[in-house]
Amino acid sequence: CFCQLSGNIDECSCNINTVDHFNNIKVYPRLRSLLRKDYFRFFKVNLKRECPFWHDDSKCAMKYCHVLPCGEGEVPQGIKGEGGRSDEAKCEDKQLDYLNTTISEKMREDLVMWTAYDDALDDFCVKDDKDEEAEYVDLLLNPERYTGYKGTSANRIWNSIYLENCFRPKTFYSLYIPSHMLSNMCLEERVYYRAISGLHSSINIHLCANYLLSNSGLSLANPKGEWGPNLKEFQRRFSPETTNGEGPHWLRNLYFVYLLELRALAKAAKYLEHEKYYTGDEMEDFDTQMAVKDLLNVAQQFSGHFDESSMFTGSAQAKRLKTEFKEHFRNVTRIMDCVGCDKCKLWGKLQTRGLGTALKILFSQNLNHKLFRLQREEIVALFNAFGRLSTSIYKLDDFRQMLRGHDEL
Ligand code: FAD
Repeated sequence: CFCQLSGNIDECSCNINTVDHFNNIKVYPRLRSLLRKDYFRFFKVNLKRECPFWHDDSKCAMKYCHVLPCGEGEVPQGIKGEGGRSDEAKCEDKQLDYLNTTISEKMREDLVMWTAYDDALDDFCVKDDKDEEAEYVDLLLNPERYTGYKGTSANRIWNSIYLENCFRPKTFYSLYIPSHMLSNMCLEERVYYRAISGLHSSINIHLCANYLLSNSGLSLANPKGEWGPNLKEFQRRFSPETTNGEGPHWLRNLYFVYLLELRALAKAAKYLEHEKYYTGDEMEDFDTQMAVKDLLNVAQQFSGHFDESSMFTGSAQAKRLKTEFKEHFRNVTRIMDCVGCDKCKLWGKLQTRGLGTALKILFSQNLNHKLFRLQREEIVALFNAFGRLSTSIYKLDDFRQMLRGHDEL
């Protein structure tokens, strides 16, 4: 079976079988229950931002692209309000208040400006949750699945990501980079490509695993159609025969980006353990904190397989590469505003924000500094994005079993 992958994961010191076992037994069940908690299920996002790159795309009218809004009073007050600030953050506010009374207006403005500047330097994402048009979305009500979004609009997005916002070997212009050519690129460029490709694989596995199998039986008793795994669609997207041999490499990239995000979670564990996960419901918040701690504990036992410390080291060239890496990725987050299907845009934004947050954690100079901050939407995106990757690896196993059953017939 082409998706029965084996051997070490590229750039990582770990093999596929070990990750399968670790994920499917330890991580996936924990994440599944954690991501149902109120703190993680409501994500604030602006789905109405204009596409900054082109203006001639029509919006997808498919009903499966529709995002259901949150009802009045559905989002816990604690999430909307300020109550979630940690004691440490509140203490810093007090220090800042004290400073405010002792320094001049000009110095205060400079301090605020430089703090914002330092934060922005670390960011791999263009943020939108502070926009006036940003709204809370209930992720459980709007699951990532097949929507029918395809054709020119979807192709334009992937083209723009791979052709204009990826690193590429010179004089090579096809969309994906054949795996044998990756060795001509430097480590940071390969990491970037593999992360994007792994994210692409994950999105496509989800649409295959939650495919609209039939809408012919739509009725009052079955108003939503029949959804489930579509083995043929999975084979079309990933088998070597239909992908010039690349499909299995794209699946391997899923494992790569999984280990990268896992490493980021483990690296920020100390910070994340001290978050309040505040929703205003004391019991729920305590449960969430405990569940996060438990997950981070597991993540830390398995986090040494991606090593970011060898990236962007040394020379002035490495510094330039890091800036380029960040600029490319920031553009990818902006391209999400051009996705023509709202449901795909929602999950595209969440997953790029999550990956961007993981990169910020891995490459921030300030991670252990007390001014290091992650905003609520970054934390929600980070855990949910990792949840998507974990689910993809889990679903991949279902496809393996289906293929095995298929072969035996
Ligand atoms: P595409 O997936 O569009 O891929 C284009 C080309 O990229 C392929 O022909 C291949 O050459 C190459 N390629 C494919 N996979 C990889 C990989 N892993 N690594 C490197 N190269 C690759 N559709 C839904 O039904 N539900 C969703 O939730 C959804 N979310 C989306 C989110 C975003 C941000 C985008 C851009 C698209 C989303 N789509 C979604 C659409 C979906 O990803 C496909 O674009 C669509 O199904 C058309 O598929 P395709 O066969 O043309 O190949």
